[in-house]
Amino acid sequence: MNEIDDIKARVAQACRVLGALELAKGATGHASARLPGTDRIFVRARGPGELGVRFTTPDQVVEVRPDGRMVTPSERGLESPLEVFIHTSVYKARPEVNGVVHVHPTHVVLFTICNKPLLPLYGAYDPASAKLAISGIPTYPRSILCDTPERGEELARTLGGSNCCMMRGHGITSAGISVEEAAMTAIQLNDLAEVNYKAALLGDPQPIPQDEQDFITGITDKAVAAPPGSAPSGRTGALWRYYQSLTDGDGKAK
Ligand SMILES: [Zn+2]
Repeated sequence: MNEIDDIKARVAQACRVLGALELAKGATGHASARLPGTDRIFVRARGPGELGVRFTTPDQVVEVRPDGRMVTPSERGLESPLEVFIHTSVYKARPEVNGVVHVHPTHVVLFTICNKPLLPLYGAYDPASAKLAISGIPTYPRSILCDTPERGEELARTLGGSNCCMMRGHGITSAGISVEEAAMTAIQLNDLAEVNYKAALLGDPQPIPQDEQDFITGITDKAVAAPPGSAPSGRTGALWRYYQSLTDGDGKAK
């Protein structure tokens, strides 16, 4: 498989995982990857020729230019997403980022609607998602589509140097060194919101103490050196293989 086929297959796989976990409903949402060291961007296409996030196949992933236009017009009804500028703007602002995810997970959106923060309610239960709450998650305050370069840049400014941001009444955007990393951050953010939501239903959720937050922040993954943009390895790679196994080639839950 050449590197273009490989990157399209990985973007499609990330979409199928996000669909299977119901972070993306129907046709709304997209993942993308940048070919490291280039301005070549590959994103899930929208339009009459697509099958929805959960059923994304590599041939539904298209290359777009930094201005958001498709490199090769599709003859089968595939179009650049309206919000392609989320992807192009984040890549422009963040040279180290090679993967971006934009989806509309309901639990996270509920918190943006109610202006409630996502609290660090747990620690060792799931350190990766706890760290998101501890470090703080920026929120883009507008519920409009990011369908112009200017709005994409506005969103990228809100994201700043973070690996995810919430979008009021809309969804989330996550960014990572690979499309898999961006997808896993989206999953973690959704998990965090789900626990916050259920805890609020039960009673009076309290953040864990500061010293325990510091402990969780100090946990570092044993990173395995890998080329920029490559699929994750080590423990992160094992976790991604678990998520991959939730879908088969057609994106159906097994
Ligand atoms: Zn959106």
